[in-house]
Order: sequence, then structure tokens, then C-alpha cells
Amino acid sequence: MNQQLHAALSALDRAHTLHPSTHLAQFARGEAANRIIVGGQGVYVEDSLGQRSLDGFAGLYCVNVGYGRQELAEAIAHQAQQLAYYHAYAGHSHEPVIRLSERIVRQAGMGMQRVYYGLSGSDANETNIKLVWYYHNVLGRPQKKKIISRHRAYHGSGLMTGSLTGLPVFQQAFDLPLEGVLHTTCPHYYWNAEAGETEAMFSQRCAEDLERLILAEGAETIAAFIAEPVMGTGGIIPPPQGYWAAIQPILRKYEVLLIVDEVVTAFGRTGQYFGAHTYQIQPDLITIAKGLTSAYLPLSGVIVGEKVWKVLEQGTDQLGALGHGWTYSAHPVCVAAAQANLDIVERENLTGNARETGAYLQAQLQEHFAEHPLVGEVRGVGLLAALEFVADKQKKQRFLPNQGIGAKVSAACLQEGLIARAMPHGDILGLAPPLVISRDEVDLLMGMLKRAVEKVYSSL
Ligand code: PMP
Repeated sequence: MNQQLHAALSALDRAHTLHPSTHLAQFARGEAANRIIVGGQGVYVEDSLGQRSLDGFAGLYCVNVGYGRQELAEAIAHQAQQLAYYHAYAGHSHEPVIRLSERIVRQAGMGMQRVYYGLSGSDANETNIKLVWYYHNVLGRPQKKKIISRHRAYHGSGLMTGSLTGLPVFQQAFDLPLEGVLHTTCPHYYWNAEAGETEAMFSQRCAEDLERLILAEGAETIAAFIAEPVMGTGGIIPPPQGYWAAIQPILRKYEVLLIVDEVVTAFGRTGQYFGAHTYQIQPDLITIAKGLTSAYLPLSGVIVGEKVWKVLEQGTDQLGALGHGWTYSAHPVCVAAAQANLDIVERENLTGNARETGAYLQAQLQEHFAEHPLVGEVRGVGLLAALEFVADKQKKQRFLPNQGIGAKVSAACLQEGLIARAMPHGDILGLAPPLVISRDEVDLLMGMLKRAVEKVYSSL
């Protein structure tokens, strides 16, 4: 695209599009960057000015099979010609969804029984909360309605899901969180552990904090706990050792359902098919989205475990048809994209690649950044990683928020040709490349990342 067309499109965009998670006034005035992406192939995307970047964040950790997969485009076109749409209400179905649901339930294991489909992680979590409330109503516990999430969680941007999210930027001036949503301790050992506390002790304390909150509110009022296996948007925080083993008995003790939000982690990212497999979590409900279709089309889902499923059966026997559904639930074209995507994930063993190339990425990050004075913590699992920048490594002191160090490193990466995301909270640089990334591409990524970090460090 030539400069002139780029400038014209930019002006139109600034005049008409309301972009998510964007400083709207700066964008409209032309002060904030805009970037028009025109194509993608493998782990690379190209913008309108011809710059090719290695996408170290797979879009928004979703393009797991990489860009430009012909077979996905063909599956989508084929399904659109065969049956572009039919609804799934009142037992209507089509072959793609019949096969996809069987596949997801089988691969999840863990007593999962049924899949309900939506289009985004946010709407799937809205469904989760409705199912949890329905569950307790059918069981005759109408007062068991509060949901516990965690500080720094991310579960979406809707009214309920924006409330479950534990990041101030998504709540300020929106009158969120709504009543009935509570937040417990963020399990970030690096910042939240006390002096002398081991990871196992810290995990135990997180579980005690959870129990204390349940008891303070009254266990008879707590419906569910929602959590990501590895916290994502809140800063890519793998659980400390023993965390899930400490948390789950508390939930069982007080009959609190467990919603495991696997929007980022499902379909291979942590090196196992599900994050729940990696961390031995036994969910009652699982949220899936992103990696289900690698974002070639929008599709999300709620996987319903046995305990909840039985009550849904009981409830509809008492009350009649479930009063919940979207026009686009189980949309055939999106479902066909999911099938073609999961074929690639399995045929190319991308879960294995997340484990092996992921281990290489983690080792490289440790080698090059663990001792770096600008880096307080290097963390991650599989093909999900973060660098956290600090002003004083010895004293564990953060930079002032207005210094924007995370954003500066991200911008320096982009200049090098690497997309690495400045996470919205703190000075954290996130990496979550497509699961097809090779070792050679990890080496390229590391080269660019090292130069970018050095550039920012030497400018301080
Ligand atoms: N849950 C998690 C863990 C997520 O990371 C996200 C999106 N980043 C969501 C839910 C919301 O998904 P969506 O943006 O598709 O609504």
C-alpha cells in the first residue's frame, strides 16, 4: 500500500472507528499510533507500510496455528456454501457441531459432558454465571449467588464479566464491579509473598484468604469461584507451586463451583491440551474461545461437567426448556473453522511444540534476562511468558506508572520487528507466539527482544 492510501485510510479510521482498549482522544487527534495490518503468513504479519513483524503475541493470544492457513480458509468457504447458517435452538443441529462437541468433550476428559457455544470469551463467561445461578436455584439454594474471582483476573468486558475481571482499568467509570462479585488474593508470588514465605506456604495462604472470604460472606451465599489456570491479561502469572492443590479442597468444602477460564490456555498453549491438565484442576465448568478456531472466525464455548449437567437436566424437567441462547450459538461456519483448526493442532502436534519449543523459549528468556538489572522476574509456561521490569531489582521497586517502561519496551520491540504486548497492568511484557513457532523463529525473537530491552535500559 502506498503512503497516500495509508494516510487516507488512517484519517478515515481516526474519524469513524471506536477502537477497543485505546486512548480515544489521542487516537482521534492523531497523537496515538495507528497501524493497519494487511496480511499474515505463519508467525508474521505485515502492515500497510510494508513492515513485517514477528507476531510474538499471536494477535491476542489466539492465532495458534499461525496466519494464512489455506486449509482453514477452504473449510470456511466450503461450509458457507453448504450451510451458511442454521440455529441450534430446540434441538436443531448440523454435522459439524455434532462432531465438534464429541471431540471437545473427549479431549477434555475430567468428567465433562456437554458444550454450549458462544462467540467470545466474554459471552461464554456470562453463560457460565447464568448456569451457576440456575444450578443453585434448581438445588433450592437461591441465596447462593456470589461469585469469587481474583485481583488481576481477566474474564471479559461485559457487565458481569467486566465485574469478574480484577483490573481497575476495565472497571473505572463503568460502575463496575456489580454487586455480588468479590475478589480474592492474586497468586503472584513475586510481589505478594511475605519475607521468608516459600511458594507452597504462599499458596496455602492464598487458600486461607479464600476460605476467610467465604466464611466472612457466609458459605451459603457463595456460588462459584472463577479463575484462569495461568493468569493472562493480568500479567501472565503461572500459579505458584501447590496453588491449585490448596484451593480446590476449600471450594469442595463449601460447595462452591469451580469455573476454569481456559480462554487463553485451552488447546495446547501450556504444553497440555488444557491448562487444567497441566495443573491437575478438576473444573465444574470450562470456558474456551481463542485457540478453538485460532481466531479465523469467532467461536467460544462452555464445557459443562457432570455435576452441573445433572442439575441442568433436573432443572429443565421441572421448569421446561432452558431460557438461554444466542442467535449464533453453534454457528456452522465458525464450527467448521474450529474443526479444521483442531485438525491442524493435532496433526502438527502443536501441543507438543508448545511444550518443547516452549521449554526452549523459557530457557532462553531465563538465560538472557534473569540477571538483567531491568528485569525483576522472568516467568511463564509452555508458549506463554512474561518479563516484568523493575526500577530497582535488589529492593524490588516498581517504576512510576507514568514512566511507561512496559510500553516503551513494547514499542522498541516493534521497531525491531517484534510484536510483544505491554500488558495493561504494571510494566510487563507478554509473549504468546503462535504455537507453530520454530526454534529458529524463537532465536530471531530473542535477538529482537534483547536489542529492545537494551535500548530502553540504556536510555534510563
Ligand atoms: N477470559 C480470558 C482468560 C481472556 O483472556 C479473555 C480475552 N483476553 C476473555 C475471557 C474474554 O474473551 P473475549 O475478548 O473474546 O470476550
